Amino acid sequence: MEDNRDKNNNDSGENRKHEDVCYVCRRPESKAGRLIRIPNMPDMCICVDCLERSINLMGSSGFNYADMFKGQDIFGGNFQSAPPKPQPEEKKEKEAGPAFDIKKIPAPHIIKGKLDEYVIGQDQAKKVISVAVYNHYKRVATDTMDDIEIEKSNILMIGPTGSGKTYLVQTLARLLDVPLAITDATSLTEAGYIGDDIESVVSKLLAVSDNDVERAQKGIIFIDEIDKIAKKKSTTSRDVSGESVQQGLLKLFEGNDVEVPVGATNKNAMVPLETVNTRNILFICGGAFPDLDGIIKSRLTQDSSIGFSAHLKDTYDKDPDILSHVTFDDLRAYGMIPEFLGRLPVVVTLQGMTRDMLVNILKKPKNAILKQYQKLLALDGVDLEFEDEAIEAIADKALQKKTGARALRSIIEEFMLDVMYEIPKDDNIGKVVITKDYIEKKGSPLISIKDSMCLPG
Ligand code: ADP
Repeated sequence: MEDNRDKNNNDSGENRKHEDVCYVCRRPESKAGRLIRIPNMPDMCICVDCLERSINLMGSSGFNYADMFKGQDIFGGNFQSAPPKPQPEEKKEKEAGPAFDIKKIPAPHIIKGKLDEYVIGQDQAKKVISVAVYNHYKRVATDTMDDIEIEKSNILMIGPTGSGKTYLVQTLARLLDVPLAITDATSLTEAGYIGDDIESVVSKLLAVSDNDVERAQKGIIFIDEIDKIAKKKSTTSRDVSGESVQQGLLKLFEGNDVEVPVGATNKNAMVPLETVNTRNILFICGGAFPDLDGIIKSRLTQDSSIGFSAHLKDTYDKDPDILSHVTFDDLRAYGMIPEFLGRLPVVVTLQGMTRDMLVNILKKPKNAILKQYQKLLALDGVDLEFEDEAIEAIADKALQKKTGARALRSIIEEFMLDVMYEIPKDDNIGKVVITKDYIEKKGSPLISIKDSMCLPG
């Protein structure tokens, strides 16, 4: 036995005094049976049972075991015929019926109607996205890849910070019940450089789909801050986080098989790999594209006849919706490469937040922030009211911060903290009215205790 093993494992330890044990289950050779030496690790052995189990566990990993144990007599001398890849049971069940039923995909106007309940304004963007998403999932459900191949409707969203790009995509994914991975283009670099590999965006989607490949393949990947990977204007070094990332993303946008690690974002770790096909994954890229308005304005002014330029410049300077005039060439001038733009056929622009939009965001959506606070206090039996002027004052404060609707929550949290802290102290409080003076730090909220109304302090 000893001779035989040594022959098989190329082991030269003729004078071995101790019996070898399996590195995994710790059983000695006399109990575990023949032990196999791990190449390049002379002191490490593994029993056939543990090796078999490890291979099963790693399942579809692309690791080449045959090469690793070349020359060793394992599994009856033919390593290639080693244990077949286990097929998870549930997967087979899911393959039986279509995961996405075309009849369940709502028509564009219904998708938009639902979005209206949550997302304020941005009508054109909601309309374009509803149609794009409807077409995309119709294509996915019918798998129309015969004579007329329906092009994939990946989307590019352009809009200032806090205009609701992420929120729109989140709402959409929730309504459609598809997994959504949100990722930031700034963290991506060309493979081999510090940062996340481009394919890590697919790993994220697989993770949010609970490692269910079928579900992930019909999900949405939202890549934010896409303007940050614009081609660098003048650079002598390799542009590993700009143009190279755009190039790398092309492969994913088109639809390809990608091998992604399960439960990790890089392939270096010894983790199993899964193959995910990106053909039916909807990619939505979003970015604020600062200074793009300048490019658009100068093009529009140049396009027009000389002499009118000054007048037109004035008009365009005042246009709050200047981004809606964006063209392919403007985005190219910004630093996005043509191949990249070509794979994002749907371009939508979102408007910057106006005072009215901010007021409506506070009050109208199904899960409006003010409604959330009202519900919280209602649980304590307290009625919370916001004066219209107070709501407008909040919107004004948010406008000053220039971060769109993002500023709203922090402003509200700041002044609601005291209310949420003080009110539960006194069971007699029945109603709180938030006034403009309170928002502007000139007064207090109006508090009514049972039947009487009085100002505290
Ligand atoms: P962006 O991605 O454009 O920078 P977000 O989508 O992250 O902005 O918006 C920040 C927050 O502001 C969202 O979580 C949402 O609560 C709110 N918000 C933004 N736009 C809207 C909108 N149009 N309707 C309702 N809420 C919005």
